[in-house]
Amino acid sequence: MSSEAKCSKAQCDKFVAVNELAKRRGFFWSSFEIYGGSGGFVTYGPLGTRLKQNIEAKLRELVVKKIGIYEMESSVIAPAKVFEASGHVAHFKEPMVECQNCHTRFRADHLLEDKGISSAEAEKMSLDDIKVELERHEVICPDCKGKFSEPTRYLTMFETTIGPYSGSVGYGRPEAAQNIFVEFNRLYNVARERLPFGCINIGKALRNEISPRQGLIRLREFTIADLEFFFDPEEPACERLAEVENEVLPILLCDTRLKECEDVTNFTVREALDKGIIKNEWQAYFMAQAKRLLTELGVPASRQRFLEKLTWEKAHYSTQSFDQEVMVDRWGWVEVSGHAYRTDYDLTCHMKASGVDMTVYKEFPNPVETEELAVKPLMAKLGPVYKGEAAKAAAALAKVPAQQVADDMEKDGSILVEGYQIFKEQVEIGKQKTTVRGKRFVPHVVEPSFGCDRLFYVALEYAYGLKDDRVVLSFPRSIAPIQVGVYPLMGKDGMDTKAKEVQKLLACEGFMTEFDETGSIGRRYARADEAGIQLGITIDYDTLSDGTVTIRDRDSWQQVRAAIAELPKLLHLYFEGKINFESLGELIKVK
Ligand code: AMP
Repeated sequence: MSSEAKCSKAQCDKFVAVNELAKRRGFFWSSFEIYGGSGGFVTYGPLGTRLKQNIEAKLRELVVKKIGIYEMESSVIAPAKVFEASGHVAHFKEPMVECQNCHTRFRADHLLEDKGISSAEAEKMSLDDIKVELERHEVICPDCKGKFSEPTRYLTMFETTIGPYSGSVGYGRPEAAQNIFVEFNRLYNVARERLPFGCINIGKALRNEISPRQGLIRLREFTIADLEFFFDPEEPACERLAEVENEVLPILLCDTRLKECEDVTNFTVREALDKGIIKNEWQAYFMAQAKRLLTELGVPASRQRFLEKLTWEKAHYSTQSFDQEVMVDRWGWVEVSGHAYRTDYDLTCHMKASGVDMTVYKEFPNPVETEELAVKPLMAKLGPVYKGEAAKAAAALAKVPAQQVADDMEKDGSILVEGYQIFKEQVEIGKQKTTVRGKRFVPHVVEPSFGCDRLFYVALEYAYGLKDDRVVLSFPRSIAPIQVGVYPLMGKDGMDTKAKEVQKLLACEGFMTEFDETGSIGRRYARADEAGIQLGITIDYDTLSDGTVTIRDRDSWQQVRAAIAELPKLLHLYFEGKINFESLGELIKVK
């Protein structure tokens, strides 16, 4: 089934259908329901937890296993200093208005977007512009029709205190990237002091969103996967580019966006780099991998695009940014991952704020001979004048750049440093040859950043379809929350015992299984399809005599017959993607 074919009139809004199914079947629901709920928080149930783990496992498999990126885990709360240094305290703000009647608060830019103003336009506006536009469009509270207050900028980080000290402010991290930057020196050490290397940090992020009303798309607590890739800006080539250079990236360019046009331009990775559309090879590499990941999660390439961010839309730390977007039924294009070239911005900020050196040393291939002006204090002449203080006077002089000493001596015949007057004849100034073997520099960074809950949502929405008016969740094999359902045709004559044996065998082989013996076999199949269970294995009377079972495919509803003894081998091959369903056994006619 293509994703288009799955849409029918009966489910004109998949968002509602998917959320309803998610709640009913235990994928996810709004948290704290017994207390009336609290917007922006979700609970993943048994099926959802499995699905989310499978999606994160896929990300890890790609990034950590195949590309060889390090992984770390770190705390959600950080001292204020971290986010003051990174610029988040100053910049992580959204425009907000409050209804003067019901006191509900709204994202001012989102209210303008509802009036047809593009997000690009809205994001550019000052608070004064926003006020004017809200008035011009006569925007009133969507809930109670009340008037709005003046717009303000609201800091969307959760603030707390660390320990019982009110002065010790901490913030919930709005991104996991800063945890990587502050640990750079240790990670560089683990990387045996070699660039390039990358590190991914997957964990909870907290953003005190103003009005989260888009389910999993906008949460106050969500799982972020931030990957920081560190490289030498003088050696920016990506050694893995050949793996992706022919991958096509559909990009909605800034120029096109400025003409209020939504047409994407397709570039291969190679073309995008050659034409300077993407400025860094590693960034292009990760964008291509992100496209492949989404395709593997079930989102067709035609429903993905990369949006080039306009200057005023980019985060404060980024010089070039693209959002990877996926088309969803209710919300249109939704960002699932961000790709930013963060340069040396973050490490430099943390160096300045902490005073800790985060530069790395690079040896030149050939040492460079230089001639530099040098000032040598003549101790035999300084000694008699400054006696016991002579060494201190020489040390003070050493702190002044040689050129400045030379200029002062030329002009005044002496220089005054830290209270010591040092005369021309007390120093020797001349050119000195030195061999420079290397230099220190701050590494540059490109960052792909994925929102795991959004990956989850798009995987669920694209898996959702109807077949004969029944819901089928057609997940790609590799992420199906349950791989095999095991069903005794009837709970008698030893079929139930045999079915339990089969389930145990498959569970011991590492497959995720579920046993279901309630209701007719047709109802059980329908329940399994709705939960996205990839295969159903039915134990019937023939099983008891010849040791074979029926295997049913969730998507085609085809059935094959195979021997129990063969199941482990066959199913491993099938779930590794090495054989298709028909190769699992002999096709049988379904009545
Ligand atoms: P950003 O740092 O804003 O580019 O966010 C990185 C990724 O996190 C985005 O691409 C989204 O997938 C995800 N994300 C951002 N904000 C939220 C949110 N409030 N709820 C869920 N996911 C989010």
